[in-house]
Amino acid sequence: MTQHFAVLGGGILGMTLALRLTQQGHKVTLIEGRQNLGGLADAWKIGDCTWDRHYHVTLMSDLHAREVLREIGLDDEMQWVETKTGFFTDNQMHSMSNTVEFLKFPPLRLIDKLRLGGTIFYAARVTNWKKLESISVGDWLTKLSGQRTFEKMWLPLLRCKLGECWRETSAAFIWATIARMYAARRTGLKKEMFGYCRGGYANILEQFTKKLKSQGVEIQCNAMVRGVRTTIDGRLTVQFAEHDRVFDQVVSTLPTPVMSRLCPELNANEKQLFDGVRYHGIVCASVLLKKSLSPYYVTNITDAGYPFTAVIEMTSLVDKQELDGNALVYLPRYVTPNDEMFEKSDAEIEHEFIAGLQRMHPSLSLADVKAFRVSRVRHVFALPTLGYSDRLPPTVTSVPGLYSLNSAHIVNGTLNVNETIKLANDFVATLRDWEVGCKPDCWCHTETRKISDEMLYPVFAE
Ligand SMILES: Cc1cc2nc3c(=O)[nH]c(=O)nc-3n(C[C@H](O)[C@H](O)[C@H](O)COP(=O)(O)OP(=O)(O)OC[C@H]3O[C@@H](n4cnc5c(N)ncnc54)[C@H](O)[C@@H]3O)c2cc1C
Repeated sequence: MTQHFAVLGGGILGMTLALRLTQQGHKVTLIEGRQNLGGLADAWKIGDCTWDRHYHVTLMSDLHAREVLREIGLDDEMQWVETKTGFFTDNQMHSMSNTVEFLKFPPLRLIDKLRLGGTIFYAARVTNWKKLESISVGDWLTKLSGQRTFEKMWLPLLRCKLGECWRETSAAFIWATIARMYAARRTGLKKEMFGYCRGGYANILEQFTKKLKSQGVEIQCNAMVRGVRTTIDGRLTVQFAEHDRVFDQVVSTLPTPVMSRLCPELNANEKQLFDGVRYHGIVCASVLLKKSLSPYYVTNITDAGYPFTAVIEMTSLVDKQELDGNALVYLPRYVTPNDEMFEKSDAEIEHEFIAGLQRMHPSLSLADVKAFRVSRVRHVFALPTLGYSDRLPPTVTSVPGLYSLNSAHIVNGTLNVNETIKLANDFVATLRDWEVGCKPDCWCHTETRKISDEMLYPVFAE
């Protein structure tokens, strides 16, 4: 039976949900608070160039993402490149892009390197990720790699992504990160390649939006949702600043604490689960430069005292012609949602970050910097704390017709577009199964819909 769905949040998850729901014959309105679709994957202007607000690559093994790219006519526009990785350690840049370089890497002794290599080899072959959720990432890595390698290599890398929250993070986090990098080999490809689409996410979002419109999706941007409530006749009202709209079903892709705030009718148990997810945010600078800094796509920083946690040189992957011959570098800093970094002005961040970059690359002068922009996002990913999947917030809520799906539901993977699209695909497939398995009206009419306790808990904890 055709239902009118509101999908809250016009990021990749909301866009994919809208696409799949219309493909199931439903009517869909996609609602986004900002002026354009894309969320974390949107594009913006840096100087006179347009590129992604946050650095994005696609892996060859990202089959769900590539299927969407094919559907919107862009899979042939993908450019696949072998990239290099650098490490900035003991005030020196080291290339770590192949086994020989790894074996030569001076900061570690041979025995440390063997243990480090062994850890990665072993982690890539672990299949029972659930067991790793009960072990702290620090304990697991120290046991496998040894104390010295943990302190010299793993700890700085964990701090880069998780700050001091690494202490509460489970080993499933590092397992998922390593597993993603090895996914290509598991799917039979010889090596992992990084890819980008010509024109970047601006192109992807434009084609995706066209596809959604051609499928009849109604897109409402600049529409910040203020609340969701049930109506007397059992439908759902989505509240905006100046008006309300009524829908049959609502799927929210908003971060769980936002969802908890917007839906007063969620029960106490649900609110506790929604509010219990601990997010990490990001302050990420894009820097347009006259010249390249290094051949590395990622430079991991293991030395202390830098204001950013890595250097991502996008134009070591992307053809510089895409950026009018300039180099594009991202300087991310992952932080908790209430970190003082969020209060700093763009000018303060620019001053600190450029000074840090000049310390790493003394030949960089201020005249080389053509443009600098800062993105701030408080809710980027849910921290995979110990036992995380046992406390997942529900996907099907106790409010009839209201669903909540977002990156907090990625339990055995890292945050990326491929996992995001998989969430949407799985969710819509589950809804379709319910439709087929139930009497046609059993989940459409509130009076007859019964939500069991199991349904209040996540459908996707694989
Ligand atoms: C720095 C960085 C680097 C990344 N690199 C990669 C990469 O290399 N490869 C990769 O595959 N993935 C990468 N990702 C991850 C990728 O961006 C995400 O997986 C994906 O964009 C998540 O989409 P989403 O729709 O779940 O969330 P979001 O993009 O956060 O979408 C949520 C949407 O909801 C909207 N919203 C929030 N509140 C309201 C409200 N009250 N009313 C209406 N709308 C609202 C927001 O504006 C937003 O558009 C990266 C992410 C970051 C931050």
